[in-house]
Amino acid sequence: MTNNDQYTFQNPVTRYPSISPPEQDQPEPGLDRDLEPRTDRGEDSYRGTGRLAGRKALITGADSGIGAAVAIAFAREGADVALSYLPVEEPDAQKIAEIIRACGQQAVTLPGDISEASNARELVADAVEQLGGLDILVNNAGRQIAVEKLEDISDEQFENTFKTNIFAMFWITKAALPHLEPGSTIINTTSIQAYNPSPTLIDYASTKAAINNFTKGLAQQLAPRGIRANAVAPGPIWTPLQVSDGQPKEKLPKFGKDTPLGRAGQPTELAPAYVFLASPESSYVTGETLNVNGGTSSP
Ligand code: NAD
Ligand code: MG
Repeated sequence: MTNNDQYTFQNPVTRYPSISPPEQDQPEPGLDRDLEPRTDRGEDSYRGTGRLAGRKALITGADSGIGAAVAIAFAREGADVALSYLPVEEPDAQKIAEIIRACGQQAVTLPGDISEASNARELVADAVEQLGGLDILVNNAGRQIAVEKLEDISDEQFENTFKTNIFAMFWITKAALPHLEPGSTIINTTSIQAYNPSPTLIDYASTKAAINNFTKGLAQQLAPRGIRANAVAPGPIWTPLQVSDGQPKEKLPKFGKDTPLGRAGQPTELAPAYVFLASPESSYVTGETLNVNGGTSSP
């Protein structure tokens, strides 16, 4: 572990460099392995303090980016983790599983396309069986394809974005609920796009607004059962999502520079928000959206 962990007192402007990623393209969903420049998912920088000891977590999109950073942080905090991802992401997923096992925690790898209801349900069943239960659910998988004009968004893309980002969240949450005891926590990844939609992300941004609403309603419904539901809303974070058509390519060199902190975020900078919302220390927080976005105003 370096001494540049999340507890080191330092200037947030300069904690990470203001990157200017070269124009690059990967087929969807993209691999962290091939991202230029590399990201910090906490491999050498996230220090655990036992905040999730004995917990059992299922994280979707856990192979790369924000989900991978959350998976590493949860393991460092003492949780066992089931990782959901697409089969083509196996190399990224194996790397994260290795890091989790090096923490002395169980890593369960569960490849599958969650935009199919039956796969989503099977994912939960497999996670519960292999972890021996479940008490943290992180719905983080997402798909973002930028398109300039509404007329050019295919019906297939529109449907697939909704299936991956919000239908799967419903299917997975529904399948998980019978297993969640009081004290369990659900965390959904939304986005600054839920409030400030980019003109090129009509389908994606509207799924994120739906996720905000879903999370708030769910939190109210589940509160009497002792289950909390919250959301994390990232701003511009350097991940494979951005280079697999998530952004128009020519925008990549400026990615994140227009935030008040003047730089894109690194995936590991999201992890403490998820740890806080997963752990019992946030016992009176439910229906909340934690914005981790470099300072952009949000409602
Ligand atoms: P990422 O590409 O690393 O993660 C997204 C993951 O979603 C992929 O790794 C993949 O495993 C999973 N996924 C996509 N389609 C799937 C499917 N059909 N079945 C199973 N898994 C599927 O990128 P990320 O930026 O870390 O994205 C994680 C979450 O953060 C997403 O919900 C995204 O919308 C959200 N987000 C990202 C940013 C950002 O700037 N990177 C900003 C706001 C919100
Ligand atoms: Mg990935």
